[in-house]
Amino acid sequence: MPNMLWMQTGACSGDSMSLLTADGPSIEGLIRSGAIELLWHPSLTDAPSGYFATLVERIESGEQGLDILCIEGSIVTGPYGSGMFDSHRGRPKMQIVSALAARARTVVAVGTCAAFGGVHAAPPNPSDSIGLQYDHADPGGLLGEDWRAGDGRPVINLAGCPVHPLTITRTLSMLATGTPFELDFLNRPQVFFASTVHQGCTRNEYHEYDVEDREPGGKACMYFNLGCQGPSTLANCNGELWNNRSSKTRAGVPCFGCTSPDFPRDGDLFRTDKIGDVPVTLPLGVSRARYMAYKNLAKAAAPVRLIKREMEP
Ligand code: SF4
Repeated sequence: MPNMLWMQTGACSGDSMSLLTADGPSIEGLIRSGAIELLWHPSLTDAPSGYFATLVERIESGEQGLDILCIEGSIVTGPYGSGMFDSHRGRPKMQIVSALAARARTVVAVGTCAAFGGVHAAPPNPSDSIGLQYDHADPGGLLGEDWRAGDGRPVINLAGCPVHPLTITRTLSMLATGTPFELDFLNRPQVFFASTVHQGCTRNEYHEYDVEDREPGGKACMYFNLGCQGPSTLANCNGELWNNRSSKTRAGVPCFGCTSPDFPRDGDLFRTDKIGDVPVTLPLGVSRARYMAYKNLAKAAAPVRLIKREMEP
């Protein structure tokens, strides 16, 4: 049975909260069924906090093996590269992470902060935060571009702020059972990041006909005015609903693009930046000239029921 150690660095615990809501499989199920042995999780382990330091010592010395290392949170390197803004018992956590990663069979970055730097690395980034193997979209981060874990893989990036609950537990389950899976161009498991948030959104028909909401609380598409990044964000939020019932767009909130390396965008998340009346960021793979032609035609063909918002989203 593979063991797992979950460590928090510069984190808000959002990914741990997400982990606890997963139900297919749940983390309890993985532990109870014997699929995973939990060595440490800061909120779930009932051992005193001193046990963590002992565990780290034993792993570093080789006395204790480590199969899956999960890191939740940005890697804080400030001030001046010392990492002392985020320390444990006087030791910078970035040093502890490097030491554990060197011993781990597999390393998983849980959440966009651990993967790319995320919220703490947003401008002006006073804590000099980075991700485990990326600094935003640039390969490198704490461990370096060429670093590989014991299993030969780079850090597996489970992006999201927080990451989708099922993305965490299904990845852990695949690792525990040795099920092979591919990583995408940002080292995210392709199976969870192969479609855009836009796919499966209940506002899709409004988008097709360019029927736009200008204020929050409406039924129509939020791409043109309210900052929705669904068409350019790879994530499964509208394919695997959160708590089996909802997603940001279903709740009337635009997609903020939280699985992307440049999250959070430096600007108003509820406003669409545009050139003329066309958004600056177009749906993935769409050319501006064709989009402009399509948009005007689509708007002219919009059904009255959509313009009147008579169709339930
Ligand atoms: S609200 Fe966002 S995700 Fe939904 S259809 Fe519009 S652009 Fe796509």
